[in-house]
Amino acid sequence: MTLPLRSNNAIKQIRRDEKTAMSDVVVVGAGPIGSYTAYQLADLGFEVVLIEEDNEIGKDVICTGVISTEAFQHFNLPKRSIISEIKSISFFSPSSVTIDYTPSSTLAFVVDRGLFDRGILEQAKKKGVDVHLGEKVCQVNSYEDFVEIESGNEHCTKKVRAKVAVLATGINYQLHRSLGLGLPTGFMQGTQTEVEVEGLSETEIYVGKRISPGAFAWALPLGNGWARMGILAESKGVSHLKGFLKERFAGRIKQESPRIFQKRIACGAIKRSVRNRILTVGEAAGQVKTTTGGGIFYGLLCSETAVNVLQEGFSKGDLSEKQLIQYDKLWKSKLGKELRMGIWMRKVMKKLTDKQIDKIFKFVREKVSVREMLERKIKFDYHTGVISLGLRLLRGLI
Ligand SMILES: Cc1cc2nc3c(=O)[nH]c(=O)nc-3n(C[C@H](O)[C@H](O)[C@H](O)COP(=O)(O)OP(=O)(O)OC[C@H]3O[C@@H](n4cnc5c(N)ncnc54)[C@H](O)[C@@H]3O)c2cc1C
Repeated sequence: MTLPLRSNNAIKQIRRDEKTAMSDVVVVGAGPIGSYTAYQLADLGFEVVLIEEDNEIGKDVICTGVISTEAFQHFNLPKRSIISEIKSISFFSPSSVTIDYTPSSTLAFVVDRGLFDRGILEQAKKKGVDVHLGEKVCQVNSYEDFVEIESGNEHCTKKVRAKVAVLATGINYQLHRSLGLGLPTGFMQGTQTEVEVEGLSETEIYVGKRISPGAFAWALPLGNGWARMGILAESKGVSHLKGFLKERFAGRIKQESPRIFQKRIACGAIKRSVRNRILTVGEAAGQVKTTTGGGIFYGLLCSETAVNVLQEGFSKGDLSEKQLIQYDKLWKSKLGKELRMGIWMRKVMKKLTDKQIDKIFKFVREKVSVREMLERKIKFDYHTGVISLGLRLLRGLI
């Protein structure tokens, strides 16, 4: 697919027609990754415009809000959004064989996504980012030496120009289609509810064919007796979640029919995250863990890479596709294997019967040396190590 690259004469004509101000970067989408990208760029002194279709940030976000402690150490994230900590996880097999994992330090934080998203946006504003809320971007035109963004509320009447555009539109891939950016390899469903539950003190993860083939369900305490309960599934997320709550938490949940929310989750990288003067970051680029559906850490990591590549391009005076494609190469070399391994692991998991999963749990539970070996490989944000070891062990067991 070719981009609408315009001739120099056409560009001159456009410039004569409209004296639109030109900023350095326009970021589309004020989710955490878009706002963090805008914040970093403005912090480096670039003139940044951030356009978001919603009027209010962080409202009704469907997310469990689990973010590693490493992410909070590495990035400047709003700590006041933290509502609880994950200190240990209990894994449940189909017949309730359990394996507990309690590392020496806190594994991750659980955030209020409203506070988290608004906190990052505030940081961006403080650095001078020009934020436009309630404006949906309906078209991105890419020219030889600038991009033009068309946006608006009901009608697409506003135009903003910049030297580069960064798309951080989450799971909305409408702009991708017209720009030839491609879509993620696949999608999962994330389905979640918030309930008051008795006797849940630490995070619990449930696996098995009846729970969700090739994926898992979670119960995550928030404090004050409330919990986020959810399921990652290929399909039928709502019925899987209802079945899970009924089977595993019967009589412990206060709400009789809690409200259930569902959202698609990208599963696999998009083919091209860079086109002429356009970069994509976050879930818009498929930068989501294919094992768990967590997208915030990978999105932030890749946003940092995007900002570094842009800074280099601006300082060299070279924002050509040849220069910016470095971003695509860099983030895929960092995370490509992780994304592929996660998809592969889920395929293997999907083939296992509940009996086989029980057998694996019993084996790991009984063999202290194996459990220790696996625990040494566990990293909250990177799963290739533990998957490789797990699959090697599996070969000898099944
Ligand atoms: C049930 C569930 C649980 C999850 N739990 C976790 C978890 O515990 N930890 C974790 O890390 N991840 C989790 N995720 C994934 C995580 O929520 C996403 O990966 C994350 O929100 C991606 O951030 P983003 O900024 O890329 O996109 P988003 O947060 O989706 O933000 C995109 C923004 O772009 C705006 N936008 C889109 N199109 C346009 C347009 N054309 N014009 C203007 N604005 C536009 C949208 O309105 C939105 O504000 C979960 C997801 C689900 C569904």
